[in-house]
Amino acid sequence: MPLVPDKLVVLTFDDAVRSHYTTVAPLLERYGFGATFFVTEFPQPPFSDSTLYMTWPQMAELSRRGFEVANHTWRHSHVDRIDHARLVEEVRYIEAKLTSLGAPRPISFAYPAYVTTPEAARTLRELGYVFARTGGNRAYDPARDDPMLVPSWTTGEKNREEILRAFGEARGGRIVVLTIHGVPDTAHPWVNTPVPLFEEYLRFLHDHGYKVVALRDVARYLPTSLR
Ligand SMILES: [Zn+2]
Repeated sequence: MPLVPDKLVVLTFDDAVRSHYTTVAPLLERYGFGATFFVTEFPQPPFSDSTLYMTWPQMAELSRRGFEVANHTWRHSHVDRIDHARLVEEVRYIEAKLTSLGAPRPISFAYPAYVTTPEAARTLRELGYVFARTGGNRAYDPARDDPMLVPSWTTGEKNREEILRAFGEARGGRIVVLTIHGVPDTAHPWVNTPVPLFEEYLRFLHDHGYKVVALRDVARYLPTSLR
């Protein structure tokens, strides 16, 4: 398998908020950066409010524009609170929505609220998922870490130094994965990332020669048995 290059960063965006379509995607395109958008029909405030969330056609458009649009469960369900059958239903719902709009069936999943269980990881693998992202604030090592438990750092309003430091961990076979919510996040202000801060991260990654990709793009660095 190919060696993981230094300065490899994965950007992931959770919860299908509207600013992913209006602000984030155009900025990423300006830099030529890839990314994964983990989509869901968030219950509260309700997904039907298109002033807060992307619509399904907008999500499908992001896929057509080359981004990875992937699975964050139907109703943002914590996997420790639902049984096997419900998890399968929640995962299949997102797959059916995406494929009905011409987007590929996803191979990446993000655990709502970063909650993981061994049973959910097994189910996701059985359903054909290659990656499942959680939190944890540390770098991801494809040679050692379980791809169904990919760690990430979460950006917010107050952890600029931590995130800039984290980028330095993308070396020695390790990949830095970020979880980002809205830029800005009007649906869930407590996970807001301000636009100027997000632009500073993009500029930093560009100016320092980082390669920025979607989570699915990391499959080539997995041991053959896990791909
Ligand atoms: Zn979420």
